[in-house]
Amino acid sequence: MLTQNRYSSILLIGPPGVGKGTQGKMLGAIPGFFHLATGDMFRSLDKESEIGLEFTRYSSQGLLVPDFLTVRLWRQHVAKLISRELYSPANDILLLDGIPRSKPQAESMRECIDPFIVIHLVCKDIDEMVRRMQKRATEQGRPDDTDESIIRRRFEVYKEQTAPVLACYDDSLISNIDALGTQAEVLLRILSEVVPAINASKK
Ligand code: ADP
Repeated sequence: MLTQNRYSSILLIGPPGVGKGTQGKMLGAIPGFFHLATGDMFRSLDKESEIGLEFTRYSSQGLLVPDFLTVRLWRQHVAKLISRELYSPANDILLLDGIPRSKPQAESMRECIDPFIVIHLVCKDIDEMVRRMQKRATEQGRPDDTDESIIRRRFEVYKEQTAPVLACYDDSLISNIDALGTQAEVLLRILSEVVPAINASKK
């Protein structure tokens, strides 16, 4: 849904390994939702292109790609999705997974997204997240998740740069969701917050 020329959006925020991608994919399979994960956007780049090389340079160290580059690429990516009629702002809710990931990103995206709910996935069990990331590293060949010191760096980056993004949105928009449990249980918790929020946003 396009509200005042801004994309009607749901933000998925949470530390690495908390299950944003897993939940985002399941939600994205529901008609009317469009899942956009910036990790996937970056990984789909030609690895030898200038921006592909930049991505590898930062992600392999557990760092964020610079804000300016990220937001520029994200805007181009959304424009492409719209022109290919894959994402329709007038009909679909944009489910953003992995962006905004820093306060400057949240600020520069303010003019184009209208988040009506922020799903904050919370997991107190860091060992469980590390286990999930190491499992994913072998399954998906992700070099940023193989080395334990890089994983630790990613948690630090989350605490320092991404967690403060929550303060950019009104408290009433934030839903804290326990990310421990089966995929179905977590999905149920998310949907039980999202569906009433969609209905309320239509009123
Ligand atoms: P995870 O799901 O484990 O949190 P992602 O797949 O979303 O990780 O992202 C992988 C890497 O891509 C990040 O560590 C970072 O280097 C880069 N990245 C993804 N989204 C952003 C963003 N919004 N800003 C900067 N870098 C990003």
